[in-house]
Amino acid sequence: MRLPIAPRPIEGEGLSSWTARLAAHNFVDPTAFWSWLDVGAIDDVAPLLTTIGQLAEAAGLPITEIAALAARGGSLRPGWSLNAHDHGLREAACPSCCRDAADAGRDQWWPAESQAVMWVSCPIHRCVLAGLDLFNLTLEAGRLRLVDEEGRSLGAGRTIPALDRRLLDLESAIADAMTGEAPNVSWRERSAPGPLRSITVLTGYVLARERQRPPFAQLFDTDRTSGSHMFALDPEELANGVAILQGRSVRTRRNVLAALVSLLSKPAALTGELAEALQWRTAPDHRGPFRVLADHIGEFGRSRLRADLARLPTAIAESAETALDRATAELG
Ligand SMILES: [Zn+2]
Repeated sequence: MRLPIAPRPIEGEGLSSWTARLAAHNFVDPTAFWSWLDVGAIDDVAPLLTTIGQLAEAAGLPITEIAALAARGGSLRPGWSLNAHDHGLREAACPSCCRDAADAGRDQWWPAESQAVMWVSCPIHRCVLAGLDLFNLTLEAGRLRLVDEEGRSLGAGRTIPALDRRLLDLESAIADAMTGEAPNVSWRERSAPGPLRSITVLTGYVLARERQRPPFAQLFDTDRTSGSHMFALDPEELANGVAILQGRSVRTRRNVLAALVSLLSKPAALTGELAEALQWRTAPDHRGPFRVLADHIGEFGRSRLRADLARLPTAIAESAETALDRATAELG
C-alpha cells in the first residue's frame, strides 16, 4: 500500500531519520508504522533487504534511493554503531543543519554518521551534534521540526560549539581504519587497525573513576551546563570494547573521543584546548596523558591496564607501560 505523503530522502540523511519523517508526515508514530510495514526498529547500518523493499514500496520511491541511505551508514561497523531505538528518534542531529532547514521551510533531519558510537560531529558543519533525548519530531505548517519539551526548536537562538580539530581528525582516522587505511604521521601508532585496537582496549579506562576522582575523560568536558550526564565506571566494572558507549549521551562520547585523542596523538600534534589546558604537548611519556590516566583509574585499574598492554599496538603499549612504571615508582 502506498502512503499518501512521502518526502524524498535528504542528502546525507540517515535511514532512521527518513523513516521517522515518513511516519510523522502520515500522522503515525514510528512503532505503529513499523508494525504496519511488518518490520522492527530501523537499523541504519544493516537493514534487511525486505525492509528496504517495503519502505520503497510504501513511499513509491526507487529501491536504490532507499538502499543508498543505508549504504552510507554501512561504512560503519555494526559493533561500532548505536543500537536501533524502539521509539524512532535516534541519538543526535546538527543544530546548524536544523536551523538551515527551518529557515528554508524544509523538514529537520539527522545525518547517517550520527549512528556511529565514535562520531559526534556534523559532517557538513563539523560542529558538535545535539542529543535528541528531549526532542520530538513535530509537524508545524506541513514541515517537521525537532522540538523539545519546552517547545524550543533545535538550533534556534543557540551558539553552536566548535569542535577541536584533533577530535575531528580522530573521527576521520577511525572511519579510515574501518576501510583498512593507515593513520597519518600525527598519530603514535601507524598500523591500519591500530586506532581500532587501541580504542577497543582504552575506552573503558578513560571512563573509569577511582573513589572521588572523576574519570579521565571528564578532564576534557566543555559542556558542563548541558544537563546531560557524563557517564563513569567503577574500575571493577571495566570491560573492553566500545559497546559500553551504547545509549550514552553525545557529551559522554565527545569527552571519550577527546580523551582518546590525548592518548593516541603524538604529543606535538595536540592542538587547541587539549594542548593548552593540560600542557601535554611537550610532556615526556612518564609525565604526559598516560601518567594522568594512571592516577584516575586507581590501583585496580593500573594492574588491569598492565595486563592489557599485550592487547595494545606496540607504540601505544610502550607509552602506557612507561607511565605505569612511573606511577608504581611514585605511588607504590
Ligand atoms: Zn550541520
